[in-house]
Amino acid sequence: MLNIGCHLSASKGFYNMAKTACDINANTFQFFTRNPRGFAAKDIDEGDIKKYHEFIKDKGFSKVLAHAPYTLNPASSDEKVRDLALRIMKDDLLRMEYVPNNLYNFHPGSHVGQGVEKGIELIVELLNTVLFEEQTTIVLLETMAGKGSEIGRSFEEIKEIIDKTKLNHKLGVCLDTCHIYDGGYDIVNNFEGVLNEFDRVIGLDRLHAIHMNDSKNPFESHKDRHEVIGGGSIGLDAMVKIINNPRLQNIPVFLETPNELDGYKEEIKILRENYNNN
Ligand code: FE
Ligand code: FE
Ligand code: ZN
Repeated sequence: MLNIGCHLSASKGFYNMAKTACDINANTFQFFTRNPRGFAAKDIDEGDIKKYHEFIKDKGFSKVLAHAPYTLNPASSDEKVRDLALRIMKDDLLRMEYVPNNLYNFHPGSHVGQGVEKGIELIVELLNTVLFEEQTTIVLLETMAGKGSEIGRSFEEIKEIIDKTKLNHKLGVCLDTCHIYDGGYDIVNNFEGVLNEFDRVIGLDRLHAIHMNDSKNPFESHKDRHEVIGGGSIGLDAMVKIINNPRLQNIPVFLETPNELDGYKEEIKILRENYNNN
């Protein structure tokens, strides 16, 4: 079965997200752990979480993906900015244990002129503080487009962060199709080659999630502007090859395309129709 979902609003809680996912024929979903601007998080509602777990029990849901606020910068040169990222991720990971055994994704950060090596050092420092042995959540580093001074535009940078982190059995990778295409990995003409490269540098066993987005910009543009599936420079054919790749079966796919629910429902329908293993 194709495990697929999309980004949903968390404002009405977990049960509501799961119900919405079912309504659009998804069997997973992504959500922001808190408001990406004000950083406010909703109080944990144990009643909601209980209802959620009961609801998804027999529905074949795969792991869900929590997304850290994209406005955090663990690689900032400003200690206050780094400290905010640290406190928020620490709190997010504690809260994630109310919904154990899921995934938590974050953008590695931007080194803002300090250089990649310094940026990586700061990200590792944060991970070595926030990860804890008892956590059941796998923390994912998202592959980035390389906009500005973003870290995580190459598989090598991500691998270096993983290698330098102590509890790195808690780490994985979320591959964003728009980002890596913008970042210079040609998933349109040479997807097998890109997968081989990922496997050689990082190891495919680290890949826990795929963000499936088309790109508004051409190959290697380092822009990071998502487009609806089939509406951009990557195209539907490349997406269909990705979901059907034998090496990527069971890895959940999340849409972050510029859509409302109806649009997401339609994209899920198209991708499910083009999935060969139903
Ligand atoms: Fe992201
Ligand atoms: Fe993404
Ligand atoms: Zn993006």
